[in-house]
Amino acid sequence: MEARITGHTGLLALIGSPVGHSGSPAMYNYSFARLGLDYAYVAFDVAEDRVKAALDAMRLFHMRGCNVTMPDKTAAAAFVDALSPAAEIIGAVNTIVNDGGRLTGYITDGEGFVNNLRDHGIDIRGKKIVVAGAGGAATAIQVQAALDGAGELAVFNRKDAFFERTLETADKIRAAAPSVRVNVYDIADTGRMTEEIQGCDIFVNATIVGMKPMEKETVVKDKNAFHPGLVVCDAVYEPAETRLLREAKEAGCICVGGKGMLLWQGVAAFKLFTGMDMPVDEVKERFFA
Ligand code: NAD
Repeated sequence: MEARITGHTGLLALIGSPVGHSGSPAMYNYSFARLGLDYAYVAFDVAEDRVKAALDAMRLFHMRGCNVTMPDKTAAAAFVDALSPAAEIIGAVNTIVNDGGRLTGYITDGEGFVNNLRDHGIDIRGKKIVVAGAGGAATAIQVQAALDGAGELAVFNRKDAFFERTLETADKIRAAAPSVRVNVYDIADTGRMTEEIQGCDIFVNATIVGMKPMEKETVVKDKNAFHPGLVVCDAVYEPAETRLLREAKEAGCICVGGKGMLLWQGVAAFKLFTGMDMPVDEVKERFFA
């Protein structure tokens, strides 16, 4: 790594808090070295109220860009100069590209979800997708799925602070992709959720249920919802196999874990930063096996 860094090396970073556990620096630096690109990628712990200062520093240091993780994604969307169509609807960014001092914010989580499914041989076009969740990841999935041609979305969330936002997002999706049917339900309505999953092609959990400290829990309360051939995805990537995926697999479903989505959102960001394709197969084998 040291041998690669010169006075010309461009800088990229992950910002958020905490960031120390992130696999992004290893994944990006490996890819830069592999493709002979003169960039280095580090991680900066940036509290939410310091995001504006961090973005000003990005301009000052002529950084090529950054990835943004929790809790900075919404604040970062407010301080960039332009937003991609998906980031505009979602109101959050996970990738910022600096073109000569002009910062454009993107959210690649939804693209990561769609491309991970494609990598598993699953096409979302025309499909009915049931999504549990209405936070950052869930909204990105809903918006990208609609923009990429899903047929119908059924969204389930708790009647918590996210619920109002879910209704607003549904309206924005209807405006951006009028051919997509979108319905929003209370996740406490287990009967409705079972029925909707039984009648769908793809079910996605994009809540925090299944990740620590809720690793013993699942959002699907009635296992009758599962049927052989149903695609069941989890945005949660730690643990790699959640209770949801374990139970869905036992019921004959096709299971797709959150690690692939993490990889593919990085692949999309890498393309935005460099204009080049990440060496996906090698990165998958080294960092996501
Ligand atoms: P968030 O805080 O924005 O949203 C949390 C969601 O969980 C909301 O919909 C909330 O209503 C719901 N929720 C919280 N407690 C719940 C409960 N007890 N029962 C039912 N629903 C509950 O979080 P986020 O950033 O959207 O992350 C959600 C998950 O997705 C996390 O596990 C995160 O690690 C994962 N994620 C994965 C990727 C990836 O690339 N695989 C990318 C982003 C996020």
